Amino acid sequence: MYPFLLKNGEIQWLSVKVRGIRLSSDGSHGVVIYRKKASLHDIEPITAESVLESMTDGFALLNNQFQFHYINEIAESMFRTTREKVVGTSLFDVFPEAVDSSFHHTYKKAMAEQRIIEFVDYYQPLGVWFHIKVAPLKKGGFALYFQDVSDQKRVEEQLLESVNYDYLTGMPNRCLLTMKSNALISLGKKFTIYYLNLDNLRLINAVYGHDAGDAVLKHVAGKLKGFTNENCEVFRLDGDEFAVLYAPEPKEKLENFAKAITDIFEQTLIVHNFQDLSIHVSIGISCYPNDALLFSEVISNAETAMYEAKKIRGSSYLFFRPAMDALRKRKSAIEEGLAGNLDDAGIYYTLQPQIDGSTREIVGAEVLARWAHPELGEISPLEFIEVAEATGTVVPLTLHLVEKVFIQMKEWNLLFGWSVQTAINMTPSLLANPRFFDSFFELIGRYEIQPEMVEIEITEQAELTYSAETLENLLLCKSRGISIAIDDFGTGFSMISYLTHFPINKIKIDRSFIQKIGKDRKSEAVLKSLIQLAKSIECELVAEGVERQEEVEFLETSSCTIHQGYLYDRPLQIRDFEAKYVKLDRKFFQESKEE
Ligand code: C2E
Ligand code: CA
Ligand code: CA
Repeated sequence: MYPFLLKNGEIQWLSVKVRGIRLSSDGSHGVVIYRKKASLHDIEPITAESVLESMTDGFALLNNQFQFHYINEIAESMFRTTREKVVGTSLFDVFPEAVDSSFHHTYKKAMAEQRIIEFVDYYQPLGVWFHIKVAPLKKGGFALYFQDVSDQKRVEEQLLESVNYDYLTGMPNRCLLTMKSNALISLGKKFTIYYLNLDNLRLINAVYGHDAGDAVLKHVAGKLKGFTNENCEVFRLDGDEFAVLYAPEPKEKLENFAKAITDIFEQTLIVHNFQDLSIHVSIGISCYPNDALLFSEVISNAETAMYEAKKIRGSSYLFFRPAMDALRKRKSAIEEGLAGNLDDAGIYYTLQPQIDGSTREIVGAEVLARWAHPELGEISPLEFIEVAEATGTVVPLTLHLVEKVFIQMKEWNLLFGWSVQTAINMTPSLLANPRFFDSFFELIGRYEIQPEMVEIEITEQAELTYSAETLENLLLCKSRGISIAIDDFGTGFSMISYLTHFPINKIKIDRSFIQKIGKDRKSEAVLKSLIQLAKSIECELVAEGVERQEEVEFLETSSCTIHQGYLYDRPLQIRDFEAKYVKLDRKFFQESKEE
């Protein structure tokens, strides 16, 4: 016997008979199912009972007064009681917390409207999620069919959690921050956003591997979680970025909290299995509604302030100021210019000579990009190269410059026999990009440039150190005869691993060492040993940023004779460079080379 719920809410009992049969002599079997309608009074009490007991759902019958008439065995175990205790008593005696609950209201509603209602709800006293079908009965009262769906709910919640929580740190993510902040905005409540960025995580990933990076992130996350209270919640945005949703406190208090965050980063982190790592944090702070009225703007203001804070050495924090917004607009104007037609953008280049201090002869030139922006005026290459690198436009930008330079080199070579090595600055992303080098070599071929006349300058960067693509590209350059110089030598990190890892021809000693000549004995000693190091591995040397005669003398006695700097010339416009070095001095250079 099987109870079947009809659309009108009545229960139709079916009498079902199943008989197994053998279909053929080969042993295959089947069943025949007989089914016919039956009514409840047709059923012997014992049969009805046995059917209800064999159901896999919980089942209960209640009258208008919410008194139990019957519950089956499954219901007994779900309710954690026995039918002896339950039958005849009121639902609300058994489950006092159900009075006025959503369960109560739904049952009433089903009876009032005489229709079946299905719902899922949590009954706290039992700690169970119920899926319930309440079927009002024609004669009064109602039947409940129910299942314990707690496991299913838990899976759903975990899924939801994986959408809203970060896997690595278990912290709520950007999605949840957005939801919570918007909820505060809709309640008219003020709040503060702290935008955190870890400064040297990329470096740690590159040098010690991603396990170390993950360990650092977890460590930092653990410390940040310590701040959590009713006024403060911490989120992981992505990668090396975190955010804190904080109370709307007066500025000193907000500042104290920012200091408390930076304090975490004062000590070096001792992360299991890795060496002591030192890491800094940059924090941007923005307040709702003072700084912006939309969450998207509050957070992007905090991010803008964070980028400003990044420019300060070590851990630091800055409050958002409207002037910073001007910086952001400037950045997007630069981005736009770089993404547009470079021919009309106002981008050009200058050349700075590299001079042999002992003979005063030009031995090389460095290409330095310039941009006369139609609205922003002259922009420093430091600024627009960084934007280009971050947005991927550095490839077309560099190829654009390189082509202009090659056209000029070819012209000078034809007209004046010009053959001075010309250096072009590269960024880490270019060096790792084989397609860039395909185009670069194609341009060398197209303008018939002797590869020996071309030098590329690379900077020491963590990302470069172990990239297989970079090594491959540099080896390709070397095999073609292109010279490779390390720029800003001594300022970066792991200089020695650089020298042994990459095919380096030349070292450009950073200006910061040259500046200290005659001022700081210790730096002079370091400089001397840098020069020794370069000589011992047969690298050429260039001193950058030479401004004073005293520097020239020191460098020459230390046998570093090639100099680049304002003492000789600033980066020159092409026509000026041509007049001074290409046309006039041509003879002198040719003669001195033949000596
Ligand atoms: P860098 O490669 O280290 O270039 C040397 C910088 O020092 C140049 O600044 C140059 O004008 C400046 N300089 C040269 N001699 C002296 C001196 O005696 N005293 C002082 N104080 N400064 C001196 P600039 O032209 O502003 O370029 C800045 C940086 O922008 C460059 O540093 C380079 O990293 C980057 N850059 C410039 N052009 C390009 C380019 O075409 N591509 C790439 N990827 N980066 C470029
Ligand atoms: Ca350079
Ligand atoms: Ca340099």
